[in-house]
Amino acid sequence: MTVRIDYSRCNGCPKRAEACCEEVCPGNLLYRSGGKAQLRDRAECWDCFACVKVCPLGALSVELPFQISEARNTLSARMASHHIIWTLRDRTGAVIQTYIIQNRVDESGTKPRSSAVSEKEMDVP
Ligand code: SF4
Ligand code: SF4
Repeated sequence: MTVRIDYSRCNGCPKRAEACCEEVCPGNLLYRSGGKAQLRDRAECWDCFACVKVCPLGALSVELPFQISEARNTLSARMASHHIIWTLRDRTGAVIQTYIIQNRVDESGTKPRSSAVSEKEMDVP
């Protein structure tokens, strides 16, 4: 697996000293060049999804291996305050399925929320 960068979405986090994705990558694999994110070494990426989840513009996705998905399908994420939306796309970028997963704790972090996972067919950008 490896991270894929959608250059039509990435704006390079221009107001930040360090881009969101740069900041969270545990392998220091992401950097900016030409106002866009770049991946230093695809082979070193261990697919932790940290950068995918933190990108505010949904510019990052992980290309899934053929063992678990059809060739070149990708998984991307959009974070919201109480849930995360995972989107599975085919090689053309068409949405196959979205998965909405609710937070498991409330705002105070003390009480468990419903851990139910709902699946919906919806076109999330
Ligand atoms: S966090 Fe997203 S928008 Fe910002 S530089 Fe990285 S890929 Fe681009
Ligand atoms: S998936 Fe993880 S290891 Fe790979 S580039 Fe993103 S943050 Fe770094």
